[in-house]
Amino acid sequence: MNILELRGLTKAFGGLVAVSNLDMEVTPCEIHGLIGPNGSGKSTTLNLISGLYKPTAGQVFLGGRDISRVTANLRVFQGMARTFQNIRLFKRLPVLDNVAVGRYCRTATNLIDVLLRLPRQRSDEEETRQSALEALEIVGLAHRAADRPNDLPYGQQRLLEIARALATGPKLLLLDEPAAGMNPTEKQSLLGLIQRLNQEKKLTIVLIEHDMNVVMNACHRITVLNFGQRIAGGTAAEVRRDPAVIEAYLGKRGRAAGAEG
Ligand code: ADP
Ligand code: MG
Repeated sequence: MNILELRGLTKAFGGLVAVSNLDMEVTPCEIHGLIGPNGSGKSTTLNLISGLYKPTAGQVFLGGRDISRVTANLRVFQGMARTFQNIRLFKRLPVLDNVAVGRYCRTATNLIDVLLRLPRQRSDEEETRQSALEALEIVGLAHRAADRPNDLPYGQQRLLEIARALATGPKLLLLDEPAAGMNPTEKQSLLGLIQRLNQEKKLTIVLIEHDMNVVMNACHRITVLNFGQRIAGGTAAEVRRDPAVIEAYLGKRGRAAGAEG
């Protein structure tokens, strides 16, 4: 059974149809790439999957259940976590707390309780701290737990967002351009992290990414969007030689590569 399935998913903003009648299937333990030119509807699709946006039409299924009307918070509880294209961190909170906020969906304690350090919440708090530390360890940031997000280089701030998503204990991880702004070394280690999460933690991952090297190396299958519509899908090799993709997405670079080959 598909862990995630989109059927006829559509989102209109006024007259603009950002995502149009989109079908997509993600199988368990797959790294599924979602690519397309700027403005093709990738982030909107992720916002529909995570419940930030309500679809104009169509459905989202998680593990075969229609979750189209389930709130974003409940979707986290049901095993879905995400990062944002634009980094969203709490600048005044230490790195550890930034990760811990991801964890509250799993404990009886709410964010206010923990920030106020209410005594009755101590055990929850300790468990939350531990999970947050583990998540930081996975992304290689445990040594920065006491620092502020702004003290971290940009690439590490992106990893911090991933750690926060991991702290919710997801089955399905949605990453919106996690490599944006990273240097080649950071991208390489991000690629390694994504592959480890997939292979060792058995996470299913939907990855929006512009860096073709990352996409082609990481993704088992890829869905290609253009103007909100699915124009192609398949393995990296299949998508790479699809004429519609070369034209729409790779543009001149794709044609040049084709001419060379
Ligand atoms: P991508 O992530 O592929 O670059 P987006 O999903 O962000 O594309 O955007 C797809 C289209 O929808 C764009 O034309 C964008 O301007 C529009 N759009 C996205 N979000 C909104 C919104 N909240 N309100 C109005 N238009 C939006
Ligand atoms: Mg986007």
